[in-house]
Amino acid sequence: MSGSQNAHSIYSASGAHRWMKCTPSAHLEQQFEQKTSSFAEEGTAAHDLAEHKLKNALNIPSERPQSKYETEEMDEFTDMYVEYCLWLIEKAKEDCKDIQVLIEQKLDFSDYVPEGFGTGDLVIVGDKTLYVIDFKYGKGIPVSAQQNPQMMLYALGALSLFEMLYEIEQISMMIIQPRADNFSLYEMSIEELKTWAEYELKPKAKLASRGEGEFCAGEHCRFCRAKSNCRERALKNLELLKYEFKDPALLTDEEVSEIITQAKELSKWASDIYTYATAKAINEGKKWDGFKLVEGRSRRKYKDEKAVAKALKALGYKDIYKESLISITEMEKLMGKKKFKEALGPYVDKPPGKLSLVSKGDKRKEVEPLKAEFQVEQ
Ligand code: SF4
Repeated sequence: MSGSQNAHSIYSASGAHRWMKCTPSAHLEQQFEQKTSSFAEEGTAAHDLAEHKLKNALNIPSERPQSKYETEEMDEFTDMYVEYCLWLIEKAKEDCKDIQVLIEQKLDFSDYVPEGFGTGDLVIVGDKTLYVIDFKYGKGIPVSAQQNPQMMLYALGALSLFEMLYEIEQISMMIIQPRADNFSLYEMSIEELKTWAEYELKPKAKLASRGEGEFCAGEHCRFCRAKSNCRERALKNLELLKYEFKDPALLTDEEVSEIITQAKELSKWASDIYTYATAKAINEGKKWDGFKLVEGRSRRKYKDEKAVAKALKALGYKDIYKESLISITEMEKLMGKKKFKEALGPYVDKPPGKLSLVSKGDKRKEVEPLKAEFQVEQ
C-alpha cells in the first residue's frame, strides 16, 4: 500500500498489527500529528513509479511520475516488482480466462472494522484464487505475509467486491520487498479468512473503535505515534531496570540471557525518548532540566572541486589527486596550514554542525535553538 493519493483511516490496514495487539493505541495515536519522513516519501515515490510501470506494461494510460527520490536502484527494483506481477497475472490466467486486474484499488473492509479501508497495490481476481499483492520498498526489516493482518484486511476488502462474481476458493497474499530480498507468500482458504475476521478481527476492532482494551507494549510499538511518551511502553521497559539482583555477586548465565533479551527493545525505547526530547528542544525551544543544546562538529568541504583544482594548478601543485581530489586534511598537510588558508580559504565551506542535546556539564557552548535553522524528524 501507499502511493501519493492514499488516505488513511484511523484503523488503517497498515497499522492493524499494532491496534490488534494494543487496541487503545488507535485512539491514543490521534493525539499526535501524522508526520512524514524522508523514508516514507521515498516509499511513496517508489510506489508511484511501480504503479506507472505496471500500467504501462498492461497498456493502461499513465504518466511517468517525477521525483527527487528516483534513483537507478529504484528503477531496478520497481522493474523487478513489475516483472513479478506480470508473471502472476499470466499464472492467474491459467485458472480463469476472464480475470480482473486492479491496480491501486481502494478496498473497503468496513464490514469488519469501522470506517476501515486501504489501497491494494495489485489485486488479481479470477475463479479459484484471489491474489493480493503488496509492494514494500523498505530494506530494513523483511515483512512476512504469514498471518499478516494488513494483507488479510485487503483480502477481505477484495472479497466483498468480487465474491458474488467469481468462484473464489482461496486467497494468495504476497509481499514483494525486493530491496530486502523478500518475496513472502501466504495462502489461506476463504473459510479460514472469514473465521479470523469474525472471531479475532471483529472483537478487537470493536475495542479499538471505543478506545478500550489493554495497552500492550512490544515490537509493534516501533511505528506507533505515541511511542516516545507512552506510559505502558515506559513501564514495560523500566521493568528491566527494577531487576532484583540476587546473590551471588555475579550475574548468572540465565540472568544475562534475560537482560540481553530485553536490551534491544530497551535501547530502542531510550533512543526514541532521546529523539523526542531533542526534537522538542530544537523545534519548539523546550528546555529540559539539566540539559542544553550544543552544536556538534561539522566537516569542512570544498565548495567547487574544479575551481580548487584550477587554483592549485595555477600555484604549481601537482600531487593533488588520488581517486578524486585529496581530502581537505591531506591538502592542509601538503600545503601547510597558512598557505592552505590563504589559497583555498574562499573555496572551503564549513556547514553548521548538527544540534544535539547534552548534559549541562558538557564543555561546549549552549546554542539558542530558535535561531538555528534545523528541523528534526521525530
Ligand atoms: S507505544 Fe505501544 S503500548 Fe503504547 S500505545 Fe503505542 S502500541 Fe500501545
